[in-house]
Amino acid sequence: MGRKPLAVVAFGGNALHPPDERGTQREQLRNASRAARRLMAFLRAGYRLLVVHGNGPQVGSILIQMEEASTKVPPFSLDVAVAMSQGSMGYMIGLALHNRMTRLGWTARVACVLTVVIVDENDPAFIQPTKPIGPFFTAYRASVLARKKRWTIVEDAGRGYRRVVASPRPREVLNLEAIQALLDQDYIVIAAGGGGIPVIRMERGLLRGVEAVIDKDYTSGLLASRLRADLFVILTGVPRVALYYNTPRQQWLDQMSVPEAERYMQAGHFPAGSMGPKVEAAIEYLRSGGTSVLITSIEALPQALKGKNGTRIVP
Ligand code: ADP
Ligand code: MG
Repeated sequence: MGRKPLAVVAFGGNALHPPDERGTQREQLRNASRAARRLMAFLRAGYRLLVVHGNGPQVGSILIQMEEASTKVPPFSLDVAVAMSQGSMGYMIGLALHNRMTRLGWTARVACVLTVVIVDENDPAFIQPTKPIGPFFTAYRASVLARKKRWTIVEDAGRGYRRVVASPRPREVLNLEAIQALLDQDYIVIAAGGGGIPVIRMERGLLRGVEAVIDKDYTSGLLASRLRADLFVILTGVPRVALYYNTPRQQWLDQMSVPEAERYMQAGHFPAGSMGPKVEAAIEYLRSGGTSVLITSIEALPQALKGKNGTRIVP
């Protein structure tokens, strides 16, 4: 059976809402359309495609909307906010992919899967929440929310008070079979947006949403492993991974092996919360039998696919 190879492609929420834009619907649709144009390269190369997107700026905006409207409409919890971002972003990315393919005269089969991801309630991340999220509060409002909702709040140097939440590791993707079935039917699948909706498994297999966020780098790596993807691509804000990033000694990397990546990781080249999770996710995917990882930016992707840009990580 000549099964088509599978590419799992992850990109950051910044790709649709960069820091220098307001994040209007028009802007995000235009950015989605640009990203979709770049993603066509995978279809041209004969890959089936699973798209995973981050949601940092978008879920932040949803939380601000909830806070600002909280005297009129009851706010939802963070897991529901993540689900909302999967819906709105999945819709916009799906529309962009549909239109791009239709313009090319191709049959567009695009599906977005609302993706629930199991995390471990004993994950050490829950002991010390570290991920700042949502609006900045005044000291007074922060103290009210900390008491009423039992939120952990930290002061962010000069900018006000902000909620921090846990970022546990993804353990299991609940909708994996559905994703697999759609890919097998030659659908482009958008899944695990924002790293997935975090839930914990309780006694008797019951599930409960938790107020946490999962890094989409880990979830996309887990999906790439479980689906035995042939290629795992992480699109981010830089064309390549660097050693001594942002220092005078900075050195871009064309390629690294898993042992090299681990060495650089230990030497502190890839910080937690940004490049660290990407390289770690790459290592885990390659260790589980994966063949190739590419880290690059959306802009550099065409060059990177020709081997002229990007950082390849190989076993
Ligand atoms: P994303 O939204 O794509 O996950 P992140 O901000 O979480 O983006 O992580 C990517 C960013 O990490 C890059 O845009 C870059 O600014 C930063 N970075 C940190 N260390 C490195 C490094 N060693 N090489 C390249 N980029 C790095
Ligand atoms: Mg990130």
